[in-house]
Amino acid sequence: MQKDNTSLTRPPIVTIMGHVDHGKTTLLDAIRKTNVVAREHGGITQHIGAYKIEFEGKPITFIDTPGHAAFEKMRSRGALAADIVVLTVAANDGVKPQTVEAIKHIKSADKPIIVAITKVDLPNVNVEKAKKELQTQEVTVEGYGGDVPVVEVAAPKAQGINELLELILLVWDLNPQPFLPSEPLEAFVVESFMDKRRGPIVTVIVNRGTLKIGQKIIVDSDTITVKALVDDGGKNLKEALPGDPVEILGFKKTLEVGSIVKDQIVAAIQEELSPVSFADIIAKAQDAKSKFKLIIKADVRGSLEAILENLPKTILVLSSATGDVSEKDIDFAKTAGAPIITFNIKTPSSVISKAERDGVLIKSYDVIYKLLEDMEGVAEGFEQAKVQSKVVGRGTIIASFVIEGKKIAGTKVTKGKFTVGDQVALMRNENQVATAKIATIKKFKKDFPSVLAGQECGIAFSGELDFQEGDTLESFGP
Ligand code: GDP
Repeated sequence: MQKDNTSLTRPPIVTIMGHVDHGKTTLLDAIRKTNVVAREHGGITQHIGAYKIEFEGKPITFIDTPGHAAFEKMRSRGALAADIVVLTVAANDGVKPQTVEAIKHIKSADKPIIVAITKVDLPNVNVEKAKKELQTQEVTVEGYGGDVPVVEVAAPKAQGINELLELILLVWDLNPQPFLPSEPLEAFVVESFMDKRRGPIVTVIVNRGTLKIGQKIIVDSDTITVKALVDDGGKNLKEALPGDPVEILGFKKTLEVGSIVKDQIVAAIQEELSPVSFADIIAKAQDAKSKFKLIIKADVRGSLEAILENLPKTILVLSSATGDVSEKDIDFAKTAGAPIITFNIKTPSSVISKAERDGVLIKSYDVIYKLLEDMEGVAEGFEQAKVQSKVVGRGTIIASFVIEGKKIAGTKVTKGKFTVGDQVALMRNENQVATAKIATIKKFKKDFPSVLAGQECGIAFSGELDFQEGDTLESFGP
């Protein structure tokens, strides 16, 4: 079994939002107290902007800097670490302006919400009122006809904490993300500040890949070497895995929240490789017998198999292997007129230069579904281009009338030529809806064998063709 078994899930990353004084910090503290991980290494828990706990043997990572400013900043930079949002609403106060604002942010980020009604231990609180007020903000909790999970907590008394953690794991089971320690590194900055003694401190949560001491990383176009990694228990680590929050030492300045940390070598290679340009390959899709051809190189058998199994069936894989792209591969690709698709491997710069000289397209990926998505798009474009290349005539149906019981398409020919006996496709909103054969072509009530672009005519078909005004006819010849 490969290390990148996608059935393994990364720890969920949770953030807490809500109105000021509605108990976010108190809740985060209460959760942290259940932190068995920190107790294990006897370290003093320290605030690094995020922490990881273990509940029922499962890890959960919390972002420790509540507030929607950070949330929004991360989202706007495409680096939203949070998978799940806990929304606090104080039972004695109900929905307030910042509650409404938080809801807006969570909804636009399309993240699952768990509602925590806080301070339920205070006298004379009205939990039901808070739930009703949430309903008016379109956060309809369970018991009110909705499916947003809700839990009542009194954080200073540790009441409701376990229920909340259980709910988080439940919601994560429904919206999991894979654990991918072997993919290229991607980590999100969740906090950064200047420490007088230690210099610039940057806390990241690893999303995928593995962050290691000594690794060259790039962020906001600055490259640094990772000097040390410190977890939320103050413990020095050799490496951090997906879901781990960790302080990185080695930066020369502080960073912005939401910056994305990548492996420098991988980032450089991704930049060097040619941009997506399958357009010219699609443009060559003239021969109806040809298929869209590919050469695939991947890091390990497991990923190679996953790719081969899931590629569209219209693609012809000429060669597939594990390992780096070699000069031989470029020669092969050149002869075959096929692009090389790589997954999770490095391509030496000498090979990239040769590919450029030989006009061979290399496209690299580090996420399988992205690779498959792109290939589906290209394969579809290729198939469409094949059909398009055969079109010998195109026209718009501008009228529909019946002569001697036969439905006639009044057609304005816009391209090429229509000839009696041609196979035609009826297109509606760019989709083919039916096919037929041209039976007769009439102009001024006279029969004509064919009609050219720029002319109008009445076309009758053999068999029924259920056309409408505005449809397009495409002819493919006899
Ligand atoms: P934040 O601004 O959302 O982070 O709110 P805090 O966590 O700082 O809480 C504001 C105040 O409410 C503090 O004085 C807390 O001690 C108190 N508080 C928070 N949660 C509870 C709770 O569940 N019960 C009670 N009785 N007090 C709470």
